[in-house]
Amino acid sequence: MQLGLPFLPETPADEPREGPRPSPPVNARSTPAASAPPVESAAPPVAAEVRFVRRRGARRYILRVLDDGTLRVTVPWWGSKREARAFVESQQAWIADQRGRRAARVTARWGVGAEVLVDGVAHRLALDAAGRLTLAGAVVAAGEERTLKTAVQAWLRARAAATLPGELLALAARHEIAVTRVSIRNQASRWGSCSRRGTISLNWRLVQTPPAVREYVLLHELMHRRELNHSARFWRHVAAVCPGYVEARRWLRVDGAQLFD
Ligand SMILES: [Zn+2]
Repeated sequence: MQLGLPFLPETPADEPREGPRPSPPVNARSTPAASAPPVESAAPPVAAEVRFVRRRGARRYILRVLDDGTLRVTVPWWGSKREARAFVESQQAWIADQRGRRAARVTARWGVGAEVLVDGVAHRLALDAAGRLTLAGAVVAAGEERTLKTAVQAWLRARAAATLPGELLALAARHEIAVTRVSIRNQASRWGSCSRRGTISLNWRLVQTPPAVREYVLLHELMHRRELNHSARFWRHVAAVCPGYVEARRWLRVDGAQLFD
Protein backbone atom coordinates (compact mmCIF):
# COMPACT_ATOMS: atom_id res chain seq x y z
CA MET A 1 0.00 0.00 0.00
CA GLN A 2 1.54 3.28 -1.05
CA LEU A 3 0.05 6.68 -0.69
CA GLY A 4 3.00 8.93 -0.91
CA LEU A 5 3.45 8.61 -4.61
CA PRO A 6 6.88 9.93 -5.41
CA PHE A 7 7.40 12.88 -7.62
CA LEU A 8 7.36 11.94 -11.27
CA PRO A 9 10.40 13.59 -12.83
CA GLU A 10 10.41 14.84 -16.36
CA THR A 11 12.83 12.73 -18.37
CA PRO A 12 14.30 13.69 -21.72
CA ALA A 13 11.63 11.51 -23.33
CA ASP A 14 9.06 13.88 -21.89
CA GLU A 15 10.42 16.90 -23.63
CA PRO A 16 7.63 18.64 -25.48
CA ARG A 17 7.47 18.24 -29.23
CA GLU A 18 8.07 21.43 -31.08
CA GLY A 19 6.54 22.14 -34.44
CA PRO A 20 7.88 24.35 -37.17
CA ARG A 21 7.48 28.06 -36.88
CA PRO A 22 4.29 29.17 -38.54
CA SER A 23 4.43 31.78 -41.20
CA PRO A 24 4.47 35.31 -39.85
CA PRO A 25 1.27 37.22 -40.47
CA VAL A 26 2.75 39.57 -43.08
CA ASN A 27 3.35 36.88 -45.66
CA ALA A 28 0.83 34.35 -44.46
CA ARG A 29 -1.22 34.69 -47.61
CA SER A 30 1.57 34.26 -50.07
CA THR A 31 3.57 31.62 -48.22
CA PRO A 32 1.67 28.64 -46.85
CA ALA A 33 3.17 27.24 -43.64
CA ALA A 34 5.39 24.27 -44.27
CA SER A 35 3.70 22.13 -41.64
CA ALA A 36 0.20 22.60 -42.99
CA PRO A 37 -0.95 19.74 -45.19
CA PRO A 38 -2.71 20.72 -48.38
CA VAL A 39 -5.89 18.87 -47.45
CA GLU A 40 -8.30 19.44 -44.60
CA SER A 41 -8.19 16.43 -42.32
CA ALA A 42 -10.35 14.95 -39.61
CA ALA A 43 -9.40 15.09 -35.95
CA PRO A 44 -6.40 12.86 -35.28
CA PRO A 45 -7.45 9.41 -34.05
CA VAL A 46 -4.84 9.26 -31.27
CA ALA A 47 -6.00 12.50 -29.75
CA ALA A 48 -8.93 11.60 -27.56
CA GLU A 49 -8.67 15.04 -26.04
CA VAL A 50 -6.65 17.95 -27.35
CA ARG A 51 -6.40 21.25 -25.58
CA PHE A 52 -5.24 24.28 -27.49
CA VAL A 53 -3.56 27.06 -25.57
CA ARG A 54 -2.75 30.28 -27.36
CA ARG A 55 0.40 31.99 -26.13
CA ARG A 56 1.63 35.35 -27.26
CA GLY A 57 5.25 34.49 -26.50
CA ALA A 58 5.27 31.11 -28.25
CA ARG A 59 7.33 31.04 -31.42
CA ARG A 60 6.15 27.68 -32.66
CA TYR A 61 3.65 24.94 -32.00
CA ILE A 62 4.48 22.91 -28.91
CA LEU A 63 2.88 19.55 -28.19
CA ARG A 64 2.82 17.86 -24.79
CA VAL A 65 1.35 14.60 -23.58
CA LEU A 66 0.02 15.22 -20.08
CA ASP A 67 0.03 12.71 -17.26
CA ASP A 68 -3.65 11.95 -17.80
CA GLY A 69 -2.97 11.10 -21.45
CA THR A 70 -4.52 14.22 -22.93
CA LEU A 71 -2.66 16.41 -25.38
CA ARG A 72 -1.90 20.07 -25.00
CA VAL A 73 -0.87 22.14 -27.96
CA THR A 74 0.57 25.59 -27.49
CA VAL A 75 -0.45 27.74 -30.44
CA PRO A 76 1.63 30.81 -31.29
CA TRP A 77 -0.21 34.10 -31.38
CA TRP A 78 -0.26 34.16 -35.18
CA GLY A 79 -0.80 30.41 -35.57
CA SER A 80 -4.08 28.70 -36.46
CA LYS A 81 -6.01 25.90 -34.84
CA ARG A 82 -6.10 24.12 -38.17
CA GLU A 83 -2.33 24.20 -38.46
CA ALA A 84 -2.07 23.05 -34.84
CA ARG A 85 -4.31 20.07 -35.59
CA ALA A 86 -2.21 19.19 -38.59
CA PHE A 87 0.89 19.29 -36.42
CA VAL A 88 -0.72 16.99 -33.85
CA GLU A 89 -1.73 14.61 -36.61
CA SER A 90 1.80 14.52 -37.97
CA GLN A 91 3.08 13.46 -34.53
CA GLN A 92 0.98 10.34 -34.03
CA ALA A 93 3.95 8.00 -33.69
CA TRP A 94 5.60 10.28 -31.14
CA ILE A 95 2.34 10.61 -29.18
CA ALA A 96 1.88 6.84 -29.07
CA ASP A 97 5.48 6.44 -27.94
CA GLN A 98 5.04 9.05 -25.19
CA ARG A 99 1.88 7.40 -23.95
CA GLY A 100 3.61 4.03 -24.01
CA ARG A 101 6.54 5.38 -22.00
CA ARG A 102 4.22 6.92 -19.45
CA ALA A 103 2.21 3.74 -19.14
CA ALA A 104 5.41 1.72 -18.71
CA ARG A 105 6.72 4.07 -16.05
CA VAL A 106 3.45 4.09 -14.15
CA THR A 107 3.33 0.31 -14.33
CA ALA A 108 6.91 0.03 -13.11
CA ARG A 109 6.44 2.35 -10.18
CA TRP A 110 2.83 2.03 -9.25
CA GLY A 111 1.07 -0.33 -11.60
CA VAL A 112 1.29 -3.59 -9.75
CA GLY A 113 2.01 -2.59 -6.19
CA ALA A 114 0.59 0.87 -6.29
CA GLU A 115 -2.48 1.05 -4.21
CA VAL A 116 -4.30 4.07 -2.87
CA LEU A 117 -6.80 3.82 -0.06
CA VAL A 118 -10.33 5.01 -0.76
CA ASP A 119 -12.84 4.37 2.02
CA GLY A 120 -10.30 2.05 3.61
CA VAL A 121 -10.09 -0.14 0.51
CA ALA A 122 -6.87 -0.35 -1.50
CA HIS A 123 -7.50 0.58 -5.11
CA ARG A 124 -4.92 0.28 -7.81
CA LEU A 125 -3.83 3.34 -9.68
CA ALA A 126 -4.06 2.51 -13.38
CA LEU A 127 -4.25 3.88 -16.89
CA ASP A 128 -7.31 3.17 -19.00
CA ALA A 129 -7.32 2.44 -22.74
CA ALA A 130 -7.20 6.16 -23.52
CA GLY A 131 -4.13 6.60 -21.33
CA ARG A 132 -6.01 8.40 -18.58
CA LEU A 133 -5.19 7.90 -14.93
CA THR A 134 -7.92 6.05 -13.06
CA LEU A 135 -8.60 5.19 -9.45
CA ALA A 136 -11.52 3.28 -7.96
CA GLY A 137 -13.31 3.28 -11.31
CA ALA A 138 -13.02 7.03 -11.81
CA VAL A 139 -10.78 9.11 -14.06
CA VAL A 140 -8.36 11.26 -12.10
CA ALA A 141 -8.05 14.51 -14.02
CA ALA A 142 -4.50 15.79 -14.05
CA GLY A 143 -3.67 19.42 -14.59
CA GLU A 144 -0.78 20.25 -16.85
CA GLU A 145 1.89 20.79 -14.20
CA ARG A 146 0.77 18.14 -11.76
CA THR A 147 2.62 15.09 -10.65
CA LEU A 148 0.68 11.89 -10.24
CA LYS A 149 0.76 12.37 -6.52
CA THR A 150 -0.76 15.83 -6.57
CA ALA A 151 -3.30 14.82 -9.20
CA VAL A 152 -4.49 11.92 -7.05
CA GLN A 153 -4.52 14.06 -3.93
CA ALA A 154 -6.57 16.74 -5.68
CA TRP A 155 -9.05 14.07 -6.73
CA LEU A 156 -9.31 12.77 -3.16
CA ARG A 157 -9.69 16.29 -1.83
CA ALA A 158 -12.53 17.02 -4.25
CA ARG A 159 -14.18 13.81 -3.14
CA ALA A 160 -13.77 14.93 0.48
CA ALA A 161 -15.32 18.33 -0.23
CA ALA A 162 -18.28 16.63 -1.90
CA THR A 163 -18.98 14.08 0.83
CA LEU A 164 -17.55 14.98 4.26
CA PRO A 165 -19.68 18.05 5.09
CA GLY A 166 -22.87 16.09 4.41
CA GLU A 167 -21.70 13.16 6.53
CA LEU A 168 -20.82 15.47 9.40
CA LEU A 169 -24.08 17.41 9.27
CA ALA A 170 -26.10 14.18 9.18
CA LEU A 171 -24.34 12.96 12.34
CA ALA A 172 -24.78 16.39 13.94
CA ALA A 173 -28.51 16.27 13.24
CA ARG A 174 -28.80 12.74 14.62
CA HIS A 175 -27.14 13.81 17.88
CA GLU A 176 -28.76 17.25 17.94
CA ILE A 177 -25.51 19.17 17.84
CA ALA A 178 -25.21 22.61 16.28
CA VAL A 179 -22.38 23.15 13.84
CA THR A 180 -21.59 26.65 12.60
CA ARG A 181 -19.39 25.76 9.66
CA VAL A 182 -17.60 22.79 8.13
CA SER A 183 -14.34 23.22 6.27
CA ILE A 184 -12.22 20.66 4.46
CA ARG A 185 -8.54 21.25 4.97
CA ASN A 186 -5.10 19.90 4.29
CA GLN A 187 -3.85 19.65 7.86
CA ALA A 188 -0.36 18.19 8.06
CA SER A 189 -0.80 16.23 11.25
CA ARG A 190 -4.38 16.19 12.43
CA TRP A 191 -7.59 14.57 11.34
CA GLY A 192 -9.90 17.31 12.42
CA SER A 193 -10.50 20.14 14.82
CA CYS A 194 -13.34 21.97 16.45
CA SER A 195 -13.30 25.64 17.37
CA ARG A 196 -15.02 27.29 20.28
CA ARG A 197 -17.37 29.00 17.83
CA GLY A 198 -18.50 25.72 16.33
CA THR A 199 -16.44 25.49 13.17
CA ILE A 200 -15.35 21.95 12.46
CA SER A 201 -12.38 21.43 10.17
CA LEU A 202 -11.85 18.02 8.62
CA ASN A 203 -8.80 16.59 6.91
CA TRP A 204 -9.50 15.53 3.32
CA ARG A 205 -7.55 12.31 4.01
CA LEU A 206 -10.57 11.08 5.94
CA VAL A 207 -12.02 9.89 2.61
CA GLN A 208 -9.20 7.35 2.60
CA THR A 209 -10.02 5.81 5.96
CA PRO A 210 -12.58 3.04 6.51
CA PRO A 211 -16.09 4.47 7.01
CA ALA A 212 -16.18 3.39 10.67
CA VAL A 213 -12.91 5.19 11.38
CA ARG A 214 -14.14 8.29 9.61
CA GLU A 215 -17.35 8.25 11.59
CA TYR A 216 -15.35 8.10 14.81
CA VAL A 217 -13.36 11.20 13.82
CA LEU A 218 -16.53 13.10 12.91
CA LEU A 219 -18.18 12.10 16.18
CA HIS A 220 -15.02 12.99 18.09
CA GLU A 221 -15.15 16.53 16.71
CA LEU A 222 -18.89 16.77 17.28
CA MET A 223 -18.47 15.72 20.93
CA HIS A 224 -16.11 18.68 21.31
CA ARG A 225 -19.25 20.78 20.96
CA ARG A 226 -20.19 19.32 24.33
CA GLU A 227 -16.71 19.21 25.87
CA LEU A 228 -13.96 21.32 24.35
CA ASN A 229 -11.21 19.22 25.92
CA HIS A 230 -10.05 15.61 26.20
CA SER A 231 -11.27 15.00 29.73
CA ALA A 232 -12.74 11.75 31.01
CA ARG A 233 -16.13 13.32 30.54
CA PHE A 234 -15.37 14.00 26.87
CA TRP A 235 -14.38 10.38 26.30
CA ARG A 236 -17.57 9.19 27.96
CA HIS A 237 -19.52 11.23 25.40
CA VAL A 238 -17.47 9.64 22.62
CA ALA A 239 -17.97 6.11 23.97
CA ALA A 240 -21.71 6.66 24.22
CA VAL A 241 -22.11 7.62 20.55
CA CYS A 242 -19.26 5.53 19.10
CA PRO A 243 -18.81 2.20 20.90
CA GLY A 244 -16.07 1.11 18.47
CA TYR A 245 -13.91 4.15 19.06
CA VAL A 246 -10.99 2.21 20.57
CA GLU A 247 -10.50 0.17 17.39
CA ALA A 248 -10.92 3.30 15.28
CA ARG A 249 -8.19 5.06 17.25
CA ARG A 250 -5.95 2.05 16.80
CA TRP A 251 -6.48 2.16 13.02
CA LEU A 252 -5.55 5.83 12.95
CA ARG A 253 -2.43 5.16 14.99
CA VAL A 254 -1.26 2.09 13.08
CA ASP A 255 -2.53 2.65 9.54
CA GLY A 256 -3.35 6.33 9.49
CA ALA A 257 0.18 7.70 9.66
CA GLN A 258 1.00 6.54 6.13
CA LEU A 259 -1.67 8.88 4.78
CA PHE A 260 0.45 11.84 5.85
CA ASP A 261 3.61 10.81 3.99
ZN1 LIG B 1 -10.20 16.09 20.14
